[in-house]
Amino acid sequence: MMSFKEKDKEYIANTYARFDVEISHGKGSLVYDINGREYIDLSSGIAVNTLGMADDGWADAVYAQLKKCQHTSNLYYSEPCATLAEILCKRTGAKKVFFGNSGAEANECAIKVARLWGAVNKGEEYYNIITLKNSFHGRTITTLAATGQDVFHKYFNPLTEGFLYGEANNLGSIEALLSENKCCAVMMELVQGEGGVLALDPDFALGVSKLCEKYNVLLVIDEVQTGNGRSGELYAYQAYGIKPDVVSTAKGLGGGLPIGACLMFDKTESTLAPSLHGSTFGGNPIACASAVYVLNRIDEALLNEVKEKSAYIFSTLNGSDGIVSVSGLGLMIGIETVGDVSVILNKCMENGILPIKAKNKLRLLPPLNIPWELLEKSVEIIKKVASENK
Ligand SMILES: *Cc1c(COP(=O)(O)O)cnc(C)c1O
Repeated sequence: MMSFKEKDKEYIANTYARFDVEISHGKGSLVYDINGREYIDLSSGIAVNTLGMADDGWADAVYAQLKKCQHTSNLYYSEPCATLAEILCKRTGAKKVFFGNSGAEANECAIKVARLWGAVNKGEEYYNIITLKNSFHGRTITTLAATGQDVFHKYFNPLTEGFLYGEANNLGSIEALLSENKCCAVMMELVQGEGGVLALDPDFALGVSKLCEKYNVLLVIDEVQTGNGRSGELYAYQAYGIKPDVVSTAKGLGGGLPIGACLMFDKTESTLAPSLHGSTFGGNPIACASAVYVLNRIDEALLNEVKEKSAYIFSTLNGSDGIVSVSGLGLMIGIETVGDVSVILNKCMENGILPIKAKNKLRLLPPLNIPWELLEKSVEIIKKVASENK
């Protein structure tokens, strides 16, 4: 009989270079492989399992909805998605929400809203959107076009037109693009996750928001990875003190179930109208009930914990032997090591912790409620491994 690892290799499209770990189950921040080996989970399924694995309250909320109604279609009213939209609006100041099923879809919606707003308010030729070099916005043809990294574009041309790439932390480059092109929006991550966990300079982010006002274009913030408590605020734009016109989010919103959301603020709340956008699964009751539970758990106490844990990681690893730098925000952390990151990652796994990579860095995205003792143990292992493998 084939093992499930062999079946995976035989039947699943070869798009992922998987680590040699076969995870079977978990509880909180601990996960177990099929042989019963225990690991501390430091990536939460890439910033998805906000409350860790199989959280009891979360599982109960999902199961209760599952037994009541699993899907209705968007032709009918449904309580969980209305409740979720209300929570999102009340906690952000957004006026309207559109639900999809992933980060790429949330960004597709944000891009459609930006183009629509531009067409209606400025003219159809104002379709250009400025994004940043080294950004990541998704894998669909349009979100790939938005992604400012050539490596992702190769083989897939022609991509959707109308994306221009500015430089992070260089306001002049953004203003040059805004003044020379007919634009409807600037779209950016506040911490470039896939790009190497690089937090934008707060002055740059504030400067971009001012330029958006000066040139009458929308500010679109991609919070697919930074959102839902990961930054230490519910959304990272709140930490930066800027006011976006559109926010996209996904990953951690459902705590493990697929859901994405596009939040529209004052300027954009009335752009979408019937027939302009839609999604069969978008607003699915189970995914929404799951997200309602997750957001209710992300309260001031949990956000403060995220900030404290973040400060602990920065202060313990910064300047530690074998570590060049620590970057990021909240519990979204990149660690540049002297030694080769792949070697260090493997040693981490041998020592029972599961971080991941972002470019040449070790990346940590633990569950927001990771217990202190597991976090301390993980940081000690990273210190030891970085120092022994330089
Ligand atoms: C992961 C990610 C996406 C894509 O999300 P998917 O759910 O994989 O489509 C988009 N933007 C950012 C910033 C991301 O981190």
